Amino acid sequence: MQYHDSIEKSAEYLRLALAQMTQHAAGLHPVSYTIWYEYVAGINPSLRQRVDELTRDGQVLDDAAVYQLYRDHIAEIDEAAAQRISQGFEKVMGDISTSTAQAADEAGQFGQMLKSWSDDVAAGKLTPTLSHGIADLLHYSRDMQQTVLTLNNRLDESHREVENLRNEVRRAREDALIDGLTGLANRRSFDSTLAQCLAATASDMSGPSLLIADIDHFKRVNDNYGHLFGDKVIRSIATILRDNVKGKDLAARYGGEEFVVVLPETPLDGARSLAEKIRKIVENCRIKRVGSDETVANITISLGVASWLPGETEQQLIARADSALYQSKQQGRNRVTLASACT
Ligand code: GH3
Ligand code: MG
Ligand code: MG
Repeated sequence: MQYHDSIEKSAEYLRLALAQMTQHAAGLHPVSYTIWYEYVAGINPSLRQRVDELTRDGQVLDDAAVYQLYRDHIAEIDEAAAQRISQGFEKVMGDISTSTAQAADEAGQFGQMLKSWSDDVAAGKLTPTLSHGIADLLHYSRDMQQTVLTLNNRLDESHREVENLRNEVRRAREDALIDGLTGLANRRSFDSTLAQCLAATASDMSGPSLLIADIDHFKRVNDNYGHLFGDKVIRSIATILRDNVKGKDLAARYGGEEFVVVLPETPLDGARSLAEKIRKIVENCRIKRVGSDETVANITISLGVASWLPGETEQQLIARADSALYQSKQQGRNRVTLASACT
């Protein structure tokens, strides 16, 4: 689900969502916010219908029900939306806590005033009937101050909780763009970087270029030395790529034993040199076996290089680089091939 509400609008929805959330038993976590946000915003009819069914007779939704609703009607969290929701929620919290702080102040002043009246009564300056009234008021105002104080403490806690949630969302967002094995950018991150890069490139600019690299006979590497060593080879090549790209360039693990490098401002010739440099580094590296001092040489990669042609989509550019890679494999591997202008 993409959310297009402004911060003001989403803060308003969150006020409404907050009122709903406090009537239910689920925790005040992003999953819960998302359910109630979409419910009050009226943007998810199937969710709304299901929530209405579940709460028709005044039933309260607990964590299990909320998570189930989430799985059935929202499925994948959109991190940007979650971030916005938690920002909106924090704003609402901020507004409420400012109001309660003011209320606490006012209650304090009121209490002070009553106390001074009460002192007057004690000094015999007021009648006994009024004195009883004032004593009651004083008593109630102390209760009120206590309640507001408790509420303030709870709000402080909620603020901390929201801050933690924000950090969690930020971490989840970062994790979602990083490949777990190598720490390089992942496919998702590559897709969005390439799309942004092409969108920002004017047709008279040289570059961007794309490298696709694939480890040669990797199946054999796994078969001969084991899967753990295979993983180590993938990590080593990731390190070589990371060490050899700079600035706006992005190296990513495309999947399995394939890697891509986006070079936003590098024309074909520069991209070819970089591909050749990386190929040689890999060819000359020796990787230590897992659990022994023995090293393995002869790990090689094949590469395909393509430079963007004006009007070309991401898929077309990738396809040209990929078919150049395929030619490198066909021609004996451990080589770099430049893509032709058509696939
Ligand atoms: P080619 O030179 O034609 O690329 O041959 P290849 O053996 O590298 O190609 P193929 O696509 O047949 O095999 C790729 C192998 O990579 C198969 C798969 O088991 C292995 N592989 C994919 N991802 C991983 C991984 O994360 N770790 C390890 N150890 N192996 C992986
Ligand atoms: Mg492959
Ligand atoms: Mg391979």
